[in-house]
Amino acid sequence: MLVDMHFHICNRYHSAETLARTLKDINENQILVAAQACDFPTYHSTLERIKEQAFIFPAFGVLPWYAAEYTGRLDEVRSHFEEVGMLGEIGIDYRALERFPESTPALQKQLFDVFLAEAENEDKILNLHIRSASDDALAYLSAYDLKRVIFHAHSDSVDSIRAGADKGYYFTLHPRVYKMVAQEVPDELLLSEIDTIPRTWKAPSVILTGLLGKVAKLRGITFEELENTIHRNSLRIMKGIPQLDKYAQHLATSLV
Ligand SMILES: [Zn+2]
Repeated sequence: MLVDMHFHICNRYHSAETLARTLKDINENQILVAAQACDFPTYHSTLERIKEQAFIFPAFGVLPWYAAEYTGRLDEVRSHFEEVGMLGEIGIDYRALERFPESTPALQKQLFDVFLAEAENEDKILNLHIRSASDDALAYLSAYDLKRVIFHAHSDSVDSIRAGADKGYYFTLHPRVYKMVAQEVPDELLLSEIDTIPRTWKAPSVILTGLLGKVAKLRGITFEELENTIHRNSLRIMKGIPQLDKYAQHLATSLV
């Protein structure tokens, strides 16, 4: 079974037409999808769009880009936590400081801490966006007891990937960012994602199959072995989280 641990389904990334085609492909191929939020509006538009979908579950998060906007709304941020078993996408992004200078490193950390505390207290999954900020992010993460951490599309450095893997953090293979992860991350910490559908549209099943095929070749294993490894890892990271129970069961029953 194919799994996409980090996908955007909100109206920022799809027209009604491409969304319909995307959902059809997800359903036909029974791809399990973790739909990410970037802020409140994208979270709400995602919820609306997936309410009748059997294979897509929502994550809730606010990107560090918007830390300045949400700094006075942290209680409102916390009020959404109960609804989800995955927090994403969230993180630390110093590469974005040029575009979002008001979301300073200090404000990014303040927002990040709110999510890290929830992940620790409720044993939830973190879906992380870390860009040019690995040292700080890894230090912030070590201050908490976290068991379900995913670095999405991570390519800061080989050292940061090794340091994260040493801690037992998971890393996604991403269609454009996969080489370092494919080379450095051990089997038991590998996941897969699409992130966004290209403007020219391509079916999620085709993108994921192409990605896994390339990575399987790089690692010298078969497509099926890699697909199975990612399937098992996805089940392990989701198991035991009440909000994700239905989806974890789906993974469990389809495991060969
Ligand atoms: Zn994303």
